[in-house]
Amino acid sequence: MHEAVGTIRNLTWAYRNKLLFNKLHTEFPSGAFISIIGPNGSGKTTLLRHLLRILPSPRGSIVLPQGDLHDYHQKDLARHISYVPQQSRLEYDFTVYDCVAMGRYSHGGRLAVLSPEDHTLIMQSLLAMELSHVADRLATELSGGEYQRMLIARALAQQSHVILLDEPVSHLDVHNQREILTLLRHLVDQKVATVICVLHDLNAVSAFSDLVIMMRAGEIVAEGPAHEVLTKERIEEVYQVAVDIIQREGHLPPIILPHWR
Ligand code: ADP
Repeated sequence: MHEAVGTIRNLTWAYRNKLLFNKLHTEFPSGAFISIIGPNGSGKTTLLRHLLRILPSPRGSIVLPQGDLHDYHQKDLARHISYVPQQSRLEYDFTVYDCVAMGRYSHGGRLAVLSPEDHTLIMQSLLAMELSHVADRLATELSGGEYQRMLIARALAQQSHVILLDEPVSHLDVHNQREILTLLRHLVDQKVATVICVLHDLNAVSAFSDLVIMMRAGEIVAEGPAHEVLTKERIEEVYQVAVDIIQREGHLPPIILPHWR
């Protein structure tokens, strides 16, 4: 049994008197690729925001390995969890190297001088995301896929145990989606980090996840391995769209086909 990188207990939360979570409970096991799925408005992003302590304190508790989230010092929290936001382009002319270096500031402070060890970690993060060859380019000149890998490299440089990603591949072509999800899968397999990722593509979810948490209207409707959560009946009920699930030979994940018409 894995220890948990985070446990959510009785999380209750309302936006402007509108209840979204009512005693939500879940646990994020260490060393897993965890996908959070569900229709728009289910509360996926809100859940990530609570884990990052971006929102005011909810009722209930979020427990991390060193205690309650709300007792964490900001620096300790940054060393536990890093965040890759939904596609957000920088307006400024930073190089790729400088953007990844920002991941080190949670360790040394914003004005800290980067140490030789920091530079090594930045280079390793660039290498892991296959970006060494563009380190000196301006971030604004990167392609969509490269930019997203740069944001992940920045999270890696932060050396946190957990990387949270909010729809990291929604805007990318299928080749880049596959490449980035494969790189994230490697990070989990190599025990570099636990990945908690909001994803929409159910086939990608099925191919890459160890654990799937399916939400709808602020509730967790199912959690478990993809083949248990992603049943035809449940997908049709939660997403209100008919699907076929085509099984494949061997250990290949099934193909989930929505009926477009
Ligand atoms: P998801 O990420 O699954 O699309 P969100 O967490 O963004 O869902 O939103 C969940 C619900 O909370 C939605 O009904 C949304 O309208 C509401 N909501 C999200 N952010 C805010 C906000 N800042 N103020 C008020 N309501 C919000």
